[in-house]
Amino acid sequence: NLSQLRQLQPYLWSLPRQPGEERADVLLYGSAPLLGSMDDKVLEQIANVAGLPGLAGAAMTMPDAHWGYGFPIGGVAAFDAEQGGVISAGGVGFDISCGIRCLRSNLDVGNALPEFGRLADTLFHAIPAGVGEEGHLKLNPAQIDQVLREGAHWAVNQGYGLAADLEYIEEHGRMSGSVPDNVSELAKKRQRGEMGTLGSGNHYLEIQGVEKIYDVAAASAFGLREGQIIVSIHCGSRGLGHQIGTEYLVMLAKAASRLGIRVPNRELACAPIQSPEGQQYIGAMNAGINCALANRQILTHLARTAFAQVYPKANLETLFDVSHNTCKAEMHEVDGKPRLLHVHRKGATRAFGPGHPMLPERYRDVGQPVVMGGSMGTGSYILAGNRANPAFSSASHGAGRALSRHQSLARWHGRQLVDELARQGILIRTRSMRGVAEEAPGAYKDVDLVAEATEQAGLARRVAFLRPKVCVKG
Ligand code: 5GP
Ligand code: MN
Ligand code: MN
Repeated sequence: NLSQLRQLQPYLWSLPRQPGEERADVLLYGSAPLLGSMDDKVLEQIANVAGLPGLAGAAMTMPDAHWGYGFPIGGVAAFDAEQGGVISAGGVGFDISCGIRCLRSNLDVGNALPEFGRLADTLFHAIPAGVGEEGHLKLNPAQIDQVLREGAHWAVNQGYGLAADLEYIEEHGRMSGSVPDNVSELAKKRQRGEMGTLGSGNHYLEIQGVEKIYDVAAASAFGLREGQIIVSIHCGSRGLGHQIGTEYLVMLAKAASRLGIRVPNRELACAPIQSPEGQQYIGAMNAGINCALANRQILTHLARTAFAQVYPKANLETLFDVSHNTCKAEMHEVDGKPRLLHVHRKGATRAFGPGHPMLPERYRDVGQPVVMGGSMGTGSYILAGNRANPAFSSASHGAGRALSRHQSLARWHGRQLVDELARQGILIRTRSMRGVAEEAPGAYKDVDLVAEATEQAGLARRVAFLRPKVCVKG
């Protein structure tokens, strides 16, 4: 890869155009080792994104980027509706608003350690996880529509979690612009039994210990201290989001051909933001975001209930809840002028800097918490957003895959991994050993390198490193 790239700064690269190639700039954030080992498909995919109409600035990849459907995962692209900018379902991802809810506790690893086995079993019993696993709730069509309109507020009103959680959720727990009528009956039907479920594979509920603090001021604002137990819940909009993605991919492809928008392949199907189809998808996507926010709110409640059984004095507060598969309308400065842009972040988190009006008061001076997964065997990071973010206020969402699921399956056995991790003091609970093999820690890039590159590239600053202790895998 590196031979195709031009290094602009130590952690910033560009992909020069081929002769005759018409597209906007491509910028890649990361270090030489990360970009050198990145799969080639990313370059092809992000160059295709840079060829779409109405792009503002450059098409970008974050340091954890890897191949995805249409857009790379770790891809960021902002479009201007007034310049013919487009919206793409593949640019959001099929798991609409997949994200991470992070809870800080009043517990310490040192004191809690003797009960980790019981905690793991209790969580595993309490958290519905795995392919097709249904939750404790069965919603009727009217209730589904309420979820899609009200997001985490619906869940809190039903008794799941606390009103105090809402302030610490992106969009304060409710995405505006949701149009439940734009979501098909099939999508809603798929969700009836899936509210409050984790899903499979890459999704997890993990108990982590704060092992290292990098930024004392931000850690203090985030309520983090060394030795503290943290809970991270990674999941999204389940069957509903996936069904929206599937259906709108077809609809947007039709719109693209009707309107004469050239896309290099079907995976990049997109329609102008201002077209009826574009608007319809945005209404459905916003509904999907609310579904995910409600889902993580219910799982937060289930995690609290499980903790209370094991540690009666446990208190879990929401640190933050941030999505990494969205397209959001935001104001950004381009060439010194403020513009309203539709920012696609696919496998990338929003990372607002200090002073942003959307941030809760408590974090206003240090910036938004940016939650980055790593792997069940290595660790994860919490970072803080920068005021001068060069990528439309975006940052890495994880370590990013280094090997495909298929390659991982050929290399690892789930049972052996679980035993090996148990010897290291990391307890895995899962219904799918195959899933564990697919998600082997070795299948991911080095999370330390990704976090360091994220900081060096100016995308976000490291605040804390978290070590996994217990992981309920989907
Ligand atoms: P994605 O949303 O792209 O599927 O996953 C986000 C990130 O989560 C991945 O890039 C990976 O680094 C991280 N991840 C996947 N499985 C686990 C896990 O079990 N524990 C932790 N802490 N991170 C994980
Ligand atoms: Mn997901
Ligand atoms: Mn995700």
